[in-house]
Amino acid sequence: MNPSNNSQVAIVTGASRGIGAAVAQRLATDGYAVVVNYAGRAEEANGVVKAIEAQGGRAISVQADVSEPAAVRTLFDEAVAAFGRVDVLVNNAGIMPPALPHLAATDDTTFDRLFAVNVKGTFNALREAAQRLEAGGRIINFSSSVIGLALPGYAVYAATKSAVETMTHIMAKELRGKNITVNAVAPGPTATALFLDGKTPEAIERLAMAAPLERLGTPEDIASAVALLVGPSGAWINGQTLRANGGLV
Ligand code: NDP
Repeated sequence: MNPSNNSQVAIVTGASRGIGAAVAQRLATDGYAVVVNYAGRAEEANGVVKAIEAQGGRAISVQADVSEPAAVRTLFDEAVAAFGRVDVLVNNAGIMPPALPHLAATDDTTFDRLFAVNVKGTFNALREAAQRLEAGGRIINFSSSVIGLALPGYAVYAATKSAVETMTHIMAKELRGKNITVNAVAPGPTATALFLDGKTPEAIERLAMAAPLERLGTPEDIASAVALLVGPSGAWINGQTLRANGGLV
């Protein structure tokens, strides 16, 4: 895609902070009008909008819990009402509990919420995008490199991301004829609250040094991978999962 006339529109779910906020800002810099979705942190989402506007970009914030189908429909409605169309969906919203017990000690509430947000939330937005994205559009889903690492404690979270990868690869084929690509980005450990919360400094350092590039990813590293898949250089990449993790796995 090449938004040279500055008329193309991207929805980024979960863009009030972390990777989503960096993706929203990067896509705005690349010329997209951006819908900054959030669940609860209105002030942070509005801060992302203000930062984009301060750089001369266009953005709005829209509250919607992605696990609710009606809320996701409204999210797309509000994007169209504000900017007239939707070209790009970045399905970034996701959760990971700060405590990561083994599967045997995982409670039902944790399992259900992880699947509601990470899987059903991604599904809700994918279903809407299939109906409403313009030809030439792009969809980017969010997986995780922990699928490759198979770290103890991550069984249920990684399972949600395996489901996302499977939907990615199949939906790319189902959209045959629409000229819309569907890919996933699978970050490794990235310095956001989702990764840092609940970990000791030693655990953070160990995971940071595990990649041959010997650091954590930044939200901007991941936004660059998304921008590649969304932009003209990504046009021939379809139905793939791109692991962006400094060589960790
Ligand atoms: P953060 O916790 O920093 O940010 C999560 C974002 O998702 C927030 O904007 C939050 O909104 C939003 N969100 C959470 N639940 C919902 C919901 N039900 N509906 C709408 N929005 C919601 O996470 P990261 O930036 O680290 O993660 C982004 C994605 O990257 C996730 O899918 C995650 O699984 C994935 N990932 C992250 C890695 C990492 O190391 N950080 C590694 C691999 C994958 P609000 O603030 O309003 O609650």
